[in-house]
Amino acid sequence: MSAMLETDADELKNIVEANWHHASHPKVQRYIGKFFERTRTGSKMTAKVHGNYGVYLVSIEVKDQGTRSACSCYIGKGGGCHHCHALARTFLNSPDSFKVVEKKELRKVVNVEDVAGYLQGTTLEELLKELKAAGIKQKDFADSIGMNPRHLSSIKSSELRNRYYNELGATKLACLWMIEHTRRARKSSRK
Ligand SMILES: [Zn+2]
Repeated sequence: MSAMLETDADELKNIVEANWHHASHPKVQRYIGKFFERTRTGSKMTAKVHGNYGVYLVSIEVKDQGTRSACSCYIGKGGGCHHCHALARTFLNSPDSFKVVEKKELRKVVNVEDVAGYLQGTTLEELLKELKAAGIKQKDFADSIGMNPRHLSSIKSSELRNRYYNELGATKLACLWMIEHTRRARKSSRK
């Protein structure tokens, strides 16, 4: 198992290396190695850093041969800010400093602490995709829980930019209930 994780990290390193070349800028340099609460869940590296206006949550996710980055700073909307560059360098310098966190599966959620682990390992975007696959559109879901569809979109995209709304977790749970309920209801109507 640990051998597999090592290979994983090596693969991730190669892809991060290929996608994040330049880090010589002083604005990037000052953040390299300064990250705390470093974690890696699957192919996503996440850590925090003290920036000019507070603590920023920074992440880089490897997808296929590319990466998707995000930062909660004011210029980090689509990722690619100097915090993201510095996170890439920090990971390349010491991949082992990122604590491997296993993605919680829904069937393994047994207590209230597990709920947090599960919600952190699943984005609202992923849940809304599942919901769509179950035949329920994002807009109809929003309407059903009395939420403005634009607000739902905003919660979804904010999470991808590492900025959270208070109701993010509650919205995920509502979405999850809808997915599970729809599945169960279909199963029993087939009987
Ligand atoms: Zn940033």
